[in-house]
Amino acid sequence: MLRVDAPQTLAEFLPGAAAITVLTGAGISTDSGIPDFRGPQGVWTMDPEAAETATIDAYVTVREVRRRTWRSRRDSPVWDSEPNAAHAALVELERAGRLRALITQNIDGLHQRAGTSAGKIIEIHGSMREAVCLSCDLRTPMPEILARIDAGEDDPPCAACGGIQKSATISFGQPLDRDVLDAAITAARSCDLFLAVGTSLTVQPAAGLCLEAVDHGARLVIINAEETPYDDLADAVLRQPIGESLPRLARIALGTGR
Ligand code: ZN
Repeated sequence: MLRVDAPQTLAEFLPGAAAITVLTGAGISTDSGIPDFRGPQGVWTMDPEAAETATIDAYVTVREVRRRTWRSRRDSPVWDSEPNAAHAALVELERAGRLRALITQNIDGLHQRAGTSAGKIIEIHGSMREAVCLSCDLRTPMPEILARIDAGEDDPPCAACGGIQKSATISFGQPLDRDVLDAAITAARSCDLFLAVGTSLTVQPAAGLCLEAVDHGARLVIINAEETPYDDLADAVLRQPIGESLPRLARIALGTGR
């Protein structure tokens, strides 16, 4: 049953939720100044061509795509961003022993910076805080590579083998890491509340995690500005700004107010 913003419904089952698995998408980071992809002002919505060149094939074969991508990585709003109240609310859930896992589609690393334990976080689309060599898999902290960009290189090769490097993220056309995906599925199947936050739930297999959770008996709560394909399946749907609604939900869950 679809119930938009039903605090009494939330009060019925949130305080008893002992193992909460959270899935976050770009919507949780927009308050931190990082634009989302598919919202009204999203990166792909405003510039569909950018989505076409964000493929792994274009990146590997076209040097100009790599140059442009390194410039946009250097200029990314992520480097100046700070976690917001919604990230902090999830830290509170963990400290109270209620967080089963935090699956994120985001590559900005803001959950770690907010204080969520690395062991709780499953980054299904990788992280832009590291670079990876496509030939030898060497991983390097991104600031080291960006320092080379600032020093004048436009497509810095791997320091070990000379191969092409990219951010340690999943591009269009790249498969997800099987072990990471398995961990996400396990976390979805073994929770009593699945909370989807700031994600349009249109990208598989991330969106299908909602189904995995519900099929294994979990409640489903969705917080997102726009409708999602899974709203009808949810026990509650919240539409207010995430920076307000997620802290409020955490307060209800922790019994510290409404
Ligand atoms: Zn290499």
